[in-house]
Amino acid sequence: MDQNLVGASFLTNYWVNSVIVAAIVIVGSFLAFSVYEQNKKSLTNQTIAIFFVSIILWILFAHLGDSKSLVHYSLLFNRLVYGSLFFWAYCLILLPFVFPKDTGIVKRPYRLVLLLISVILAGISVFTNKFIASVTIYDWGASNNFGQWGLLFNIYMSLSILPIFSYIWIYRKSDETSRRQLKFFFLGLALFLVGVVIIYLLINPMVGDERYYKYGNYSAIFLVAFTSYAILRHHLFNIRVILTELAILIINGISAIQVASSKTPLEAFLRLVFLVLIAYGSYLLLQSVRREIKFREELQQLSEQLAQANAHLKELDAMKTEFVSLASHELLTPVSAIEGYLSMLLDEKMAKIEDPKAIRYMDRVYSSAKRLARLVTDMLNVSRIEEGRLLVEKKEIDLSKLINETIDEVKFKAEENKQKIVFENPDGWQTFGDPDKLKEVVVNLIGNSIKYSKNPGTISIKVEKVPTEWVAEKWQKVEAEIKARPLDDQEAIKSAVDEHFHALVGAQQLLISVQDQGIGIPKEELPRLFKKFHRVGDFTTAESQGTGLGLYISRALVELHHGRIWAESEGPSHGSTFTFSLPIIDSKDELLKMEAQVPQTKEQLKPLARPVKQAEEL
Ligand code: ADP
Repeated sequence: MDQNLVGASFLTNYWVNSVIVAAIVIVGSFLAFSVYEQNKKSLTNQTIAIFFVSIILWILFAHLGDSKSLVHYSLLFNRLVYGSLFFWAYCLILLPFVFPKDTGIVKRPYRLVLLLISVILAGISVFTNKFIASVTIYDWGASNNFGQWGLLFNIYMSLSILPIFSYIWIYRKSDETSRRQLKFFFLGLALFLVGVVIIYLLINPMVGDERYYKYGNYSAIFLVAFTSYAILRHHLFNIRVILTELAILIINGISAIQVASSKTPLEAFLRLVFLVLIAYGSYLLLQSVRREIKFREELQQLSEQLAQANAHLKELDAMKTEFVSLASHELLTPVSAIEGYLSMLLDEKMAKIEDPKAIRYMDRVYSSAKRLARLVTDMLNVSRIEEGRLLVEKKEIDLSKLINETIDEVKFKAEENKQKIVFENPDGWQTFGDPDKLKEVVVNLIGNSIKYSKNPGTISIKVEKVPTEWVAEKWQKVEAEIKARPLDDQEAIKSAVDEHFHALVGAQQLLISVQDQGIGIPKEELPRLFKKFHRVGDFTTAESQGTGLGLYISRALVELHHGRIWAESEGPSHGSTFTFSLPIIDSKDELLKMEAQVPQTKEQLKPLARPVKQAEEL
């Protein structure tokens, strides 16, 4: 026998086919059952389950019809194949109306009529010779000979396939999930058709008979498998239970057979003990699997709910930012007017108020109005930063000059608070940035040092150049410390600006530090300082006025300049040091290249609400 014939006879061997059919019947029934179990009341699941069963029966009967030992029943089995095909046609007609979603179009009475027709046609094919008159037995199996209504059978089957084409339209109208399901269904259908076409148009004409026709049938298992996957994908946990049950059933069945086939009473007894143990173990296993699956399903549900809640919160957050932006914008005009007129009223040259009490009260009102104006501008700045609408106009700047100017502006306030400001090394430091914004940062830091120093002392400012890795490592440590804290505190490192602004550039960085001998900051407060609205809840700070936004804004401004900012303190009454990094002037080109990747139109951008905080406002 040559090699080809060995292969061919293997494929047509009845026992080989029996194994394949048995596998298809087991897998198919399991999937049909799983689909049905998943949602017993759903018309979709019911129809798909019947669809699978009809395919399984059709494959099974066709195989039995080919059996040599059952040759007398061959006609009956082949008629049963046709009977099954009428049920499969019933499902094919319904399918576009119920899968992936039940459209509700095919109402119960219509379905019953269709089912009745299918039952009658199936009955006719099984019990009469109208569709199949006889069978011819070949060495490879049986072939049908049509009866009087053979043509009708062909027409009915062809027509029942037509509704499938409506899926082209259904697909277009479907949502994401349904489309995903449909793709799997189409894939299964395509593989099935490819199988059938290869057998009927290629193999059969080549061999000259239909000995391989069954392989066309077998490819229906693709349709069954992919459709099940489409439906059960989200419920694979249940499949695990069913699989476990199946395995348990097989193991228990085998041991039961062993008990029954025992040769001596002792053997039977031992095997029975073994069976009881296995049964008990199976019971425990099943329970634990069920419990675990229930738990995981709950977990999944919870995480889905959490994801939804999170999306909702983000939406709310965006709405809130928009509201704050609108509200502060609207507030700024009247507040500025109040502040301006009050300052005029208090100016002796412009208005005359005689009563010293009135002047005192007015003075208080004026300082409150200034604080209010500060708060409103801060909020406006925060919303501009968070919405990415802050106008940043960078140029080459003389950092030493900028710091000196700032010191001049705040000197008077520092002296009032008995603080001396020393710029240790004003050696012509240069950077590339927006002078207004950097000034705001320096004013904030020096201002805080003045505000949070109770005793006479010195505020020293220092600039130095360090390798970029140094800053990166330092920042890693700061981040790690904050990441180990509660979620709420992690706000302190959540960047409010685009990554392209945030990234460190160049090989070296400038480090600007502002050190004071003031009230200091408790260790546990350090990581929280840069959060929005955060103020150290301590009696020492409670008396000084502030919004808790200064450091948050400073951080965002520094980040907009590819920098990092952090605070250090040895604890209460040991003073504090605030340090931030900025790129060196040589990194200008690299920096510009990186920022060019952020799409921004100048029209939507706005400058800081009030560029530089006046010394008296601190
Ligand atoms: P504000 O000063 O308006 O309260 P900031 O964001 O500027 O807001 O500062 C946040 C908090 O950080 C302050 O309330 C204060 O408790 C603390 N803080 C900032 N700078 C210093 C400093 N130099 N010394 C001690 N504490 C400080």
